[in-house]
Amino acid sequence: MSPTLFERIIAREIPSTVVYEDDDYIAIKDIAPKAPVHLLVIPKKVSTRIDEISDAAEMGRLWLTAVKVAQSQLADYRLVVNVGAGGGQEVFHTHIHVLGGWDTGSAVGFGG
Ligand code: AMP
Repeated sequence: MSPTLFERIIAREIPSTVVYEDDDYIAIKDIAPKAPVHLLVIPKKVSTRIDEISDAAEMGRLWLTAVKVAQSQLADYRLVVNVGAGGGQEVFHTHIHVLGGWDTGSAVGFGG
């Protein structure tokens, strides 16, 4: 198996702007932001898509990390996960999108 794009980012083979990192997770700025603030929270343990994670503690730590990263930069925010190609997923290494920074009232509607 060749490494995923995000494994290569974690290994610093591909440059990115890292906003958070610990032993198990990394958060980077999205290269093509869809909001004024757009981060990706990525587990270092590879899974293809979030529904491959069956361990509740592992799932909980991922979401807690996403919330911690979001709260470090934003008062209000949106967390999004695209699951599978039909769900809009393009990078097949589990990640949570953190989106925010819109002016109050101007956040696009869900799916907009
Ligand atoms: P998804 O469609 O949920 O798989 O999201 C993948 C995200 O990765 C997209 O929002 C891309 O803009 C983002 N992305 C792709 N390549 C890079 C990269 N080299 N550095 C940072 N973000 C990236």
